[in-house]
Amino acid sequence: MQIKYCTRCLFPETKPDLFFDEQGVCSACVAAEEKTQIDWEQRRKDFFKIIEHYRSKNPTGYDCIVPVSGGKDSTYQAYYMKKVCGLNPLCVCFETTAVTEIGQHNLDNLAEMGMDVIHFKKNDEVYRKMVIESFKRVGDEMWPNHIGIFTIPVMFAVKFNIPLLIWGENPQQEYGGPLESIQNKVLSRRWLEEFGGLLGNRIQDMIGVDGITEKELTPYFYPSDEDIERVGVTGLFLGHYFFWDARKQLEIVKEHGFRVSETPVEGTYTNYENLDEKIVGLHDYLKFVKYGFGRATDHACIDIRNNRITREEGLDLVKKYDGKYPHYAVESFIEYTGMSKQEVDEVIDSYTNTILFTQDETGRFLRDSDGNLVRNFEIA
Ligand SMILES: [Zn+2]
Repeated sequence: MQIKYCTRCLFPETKPDLFFDEQGVCSACVAAEEKTQIDWEQRRKDFFKIIEHYRSKNPTGYDCIVPVSGGKDSTYQAYYMKKVCGLNPLCVCFETTAVTEIGQHNLDNLAEMGMDVIHFKKNDEVYRKMVIESFKRVGDEMWPNHIGIFTIPVMFAVKFNIPLLIWGENPQQEYGGPLESIQNKVLSRRWLEEFGGLLGNRIQDMIGVDGITEKELTPYFYPSDEDIERVGVTGLFLGHYFFWDARKQLEIVKEHGFRVSETPVEGTYTNYENLDEKIVGLHDYLKFVKYGFGRATDHACIDIRNNRITREEGLDLVKKYDGKYPHYAVESFIEYTGMSKQEVDEVIDSYTNTILFTQDETGRFLRDSDGNLVRNFEIA
């Protein structure tokens, strides 16, 4: 079968919420092009005007909250607020599913950079049940993490009365999404519910799963509108005010102790993303089996748009790295959940696109000797 690809980058038409113009250019490329026309100097001024309003006004002593993970983006956000803006941020981290050694180093490094960090250790019994349930129910084992990283910092904002939250790049902007989501400069409950990657599953839907009670889900509920309004919670996307260039920012945070992997991270060719989480490769692989493109495509498209590589070079990278069976992530997932390899593979198969991947006459997906699926399509 033939998949249509963007003529400028390598996004396929199977990507949800992606649109093509008459020249066959995708909406993510159009959005990237528009970013070059923005008056960034004006945006910078706008940003500093906004933060002046919050500087040193908070009786707690903290000027803002920076949600952090131990990844490069949140380290840059924290660096920017502390070192460039001269604010006193409180970093808030929602503990990831299964943290890596590098991830832990990068998280601890935030304190070394001169900031206080709240590390929210999740109730693993409840969280694990949600990991297993969401893996089976929506084909995304990182689902409870997507919720936690967005709700816990807001919960602390409300509890501590710190209204300003600084998020990073709007992911819909970076990876392409509906126009409405791209134009957002604030992260609100509505943004989270519509564009936060929750796949139609709500936290309420987890009540009763393997005995989970509503009370046990407390940290995953977004604070009430009443509380948000009382505190005046405002979550700004830093990427709305500054041109977001991940590779440039990486060089800056590396000078401040941020560590990267020696080798490319599973599922892609870069060594600076998804460093903090052992099982995220499974999340990326599930995207691949559903839509026929993976993390290497995401990274290649960004590098193409930023003129770091040509489309041809990107194509070679995608062919080499995209969609490989994530052995390390699956092993880590098995260790975390206690599921068997067979159970895990059966769930993955149930989400595998039968049009995009080859099956034998009994309906079994064909695989090469390394466990990789056989594509029914050419990447072009
Ligand atoms: Zn494109």
